[in-house]
Amino acid sequence: MKILVLNCGSSSIKYQLFDMKEKTVLAKGLAQRVGLAGSTIDFRKGDDGKKAVFEAEILDHKIGIQKIFELLTNKETGVLGSLNEVDAVGHRIVHGGDKFSASVLITQEVKDAIKECIVFAPLHNPPNLKGVEAVEEILPNVKQVAVFDTSFHQTMKPEAYIYGIPYMFYEKHRIRRYGFHGTSHRYVAGRAAEMLGKPLEELKLITVHLGNGASVAAIDKGKSMDTSMGHTPLEGLVMGTRCGDIDPALILHIMKEYELTVSEMDNLLNKHSGVLGISQESSDLRDLEEDWPNKSEKANLALDVYSHRIKKYIGAYMAVLNGCDAVVWTAGVGENSPIVRSIVHKNMDWFGIKLDLEKNEVTWRGAEGDITTPDSKVKVLVIPTNEELVIAQDTMEIVSN
Ligand code: AMP
Repeated sequence: MKILVLNCGSSSIKYQLFDMKEKTVLAKGLAQRVGLAGSTIDFRKGDDGKKAVFEAEILDHKIGIQKIFELLTNKETGVLGSLNEVDAVGHRIVHGGDKFSASVLITQEVKDAIKECIVFAPLHNPPNLKGVEAVEEILPNVKQVAVFDTSFHQTMKPEAYIYGIPYMFYEKHRIRRYGFHGTSHRYVAGRAAEMLGKPLEELKLITVHLGNGASVAAIDKGKSMDTSMGHTPLEGLVMGTRCGDIDPALILHIMKEYELTVSEMDNLLNKHSGVLGISQESSDLRDLEEDWPNKSEKANLALDVYSHRIKKYIGAYMAVLNGCDAVVWTAGVGENSPIVRSIVHKNMDWFGIKLDLEKNEVTWRGAEGDITTPDSKVKVLVIPTNEELVIAQDTMEIVSN
């Protein structure tokens, strides 16, 4: 079975074509600047083939997806004889609200429900839907599946998802904590169980997803009990450009003092805060880590604040779970930053965590591993995430039934 996975953003389309027999990647790539001048599309055969980049006029998502299909079926360089070989398409959909606690086959009803969730994710759900509708037009007979970033966290109990504001906002507007990165937390939790050689149902895990956006999840017996992102992906950890948890009164104070509009404040919290805001240098941890710790005071401070917040959530989630078998690090920073991992896990021996500094140092660039000493009661694992594979697997299961 061949499954195409699409992740349609506001001006980009990420794609990966899987052959599910061996779970191999046949081709993958990214269309960028969709709807803007200077759009490009790239194509790579297999998981690590050489990247070919093409300039293309990609006026909208439908044209972008058509171009992807052209590349996949190109007689000389493509990987498909014809589009008939695509058995199903799986989509990453950012927000499913509290309507979806699992991935689903896309029907008109599902599309309507995704539309209703636009209010929660105005930047993400509309392009996600555009991708679904474009495939419908190009391949009307192919089944499509929606895999939500939020659905894994639907197992959170009300005490974890209700905000301390008047209950009316939840009842009337479904304002509550939802959580994101669910596909990634789910994948690494499953993989951690395999690495530990125990059923997921017997494990308490804390998964730390640190990419451009970042979140931590407390997972008991495979179910998300709590997670650091909330109603939107702004809550929780200090991220590249997002503030994470702050005193909500500050928002009012800053808006008043600087006479900021709602959208200016939104911009400040989402795009100019976090590691970038503190360091005044970069949002990319690679820049802050180069020559660390011989960096500017603000750059070092940014790294310390970033790491301290992660440590705090790990401690909190150990309390939520009443223990922990393993902490799992994943995504760009989690997989590649021995520095952040060592700052966070320093002095956590009381919690049963003893990092093996040598193993920590060499575990990066796609490597999977346990970076603790043999006597560490709580294991610390590094596991490269694979959200696309989860989407492909869910899609295969749903269309096969
Ligand atoms: P992702 O969203 O998972 O692709 O992660 C992107 C982020 O990972 C970037 O913003 C970087 O800050 C971070 N990253 C990638 N490689 C490294 C590295 N070698 N060391 C530290 N951070 C990295």
